[in-house]
Amino acid sequence: MRYFIGNWKMFGVPKSINILNKINSFYSKDKNRKKYRVIITPPYTLIQTYAKYFKKKNIYIGSQNCYQKDQFSSNTAAVSPYMIRQVGAQYTLVGHSDNRSEGDTDIMLKNKVKFALKNNLRVVFCIGENKKDKKNKKTFGVLKRQLTRVLEKNFNVNNIIVAYEPIWSIGTGKIPTKADLENITFYVKKVLKSIFKNKSPAVLYGGSVDGSNVRMFRDLRGIDGFLVGGASKSSKKFIDIIKNYYR
Ligand code: PEP
Repeated sequence: MRYFIGNWKMFGVPKSINILNKINSFYSKDKNRKKYRVIITPPYTLIQTYAKYFKKKNIYIGSQNCYQKDQFSSNTAAVSPYMIRQVGAQYTLVGHSDNRSEGDTDIMLKNKVKFALKNNLRVVFCIGENKKDKKNKKTFGVLKRQLTRVLEKNFNVNNIIVAYEPIWSIGTGKIPTKADLENITFYVKKVLKSIFKNKSPAVLYGGSVDGSNVRMFRDLRGIDGFLVGGASKSSKKFIDIIKNYYR
């Protein structure tokens, strides 16, 4: 199974559902549809409407984040995994670099993963090195730390997906070389297997993926799908990614 996840970030109003309708009708007719799943993470404000609308259709709805507590609490503006699940989301991102840079710590992320799983959300756990780490050849160490400090062997591996998103690649048009990406994915899966009794969750790549570069990723071993930011806000660009991946 491949995953194409669109992360809308701070984009979208109710009528943006048109974008998803177009993706949904493409999916319904696509001969490759059994091979992949489309998940979209709109902002909190749209989860309920979209999840209800797409419940019996082909697009899964996820959240971009969740709070590090289980159900209800006195934290102003926080939204818990329980609340997200109750309005129909089936996935949540955790640890996106946007949120890490705004203060998410490993302990917070561990609680987010824990409570998301407890509330039957599948977790897309994001990791990635920054430009300086890359320059100083610290990528492997950084990724290992991000994984081992948060993921625990008793977490349900079947409900976890890992998204490798080098921060220097997000929104920049820069992508890793084939060799780097293959080595990194292999290493990430090795670390994951050491956490989860020799089992690895799916590992996705994210960072400037578009219709023109997706074919290069297709030929790489070990990439189970993509987390797409910018290109997911346009149905055409998002569909082009899927089309060109299977072309
Ligand atoms: C992201 O923000 O997770 C992302 C991958 O963005 P982009 O595709 O725009 O680089």
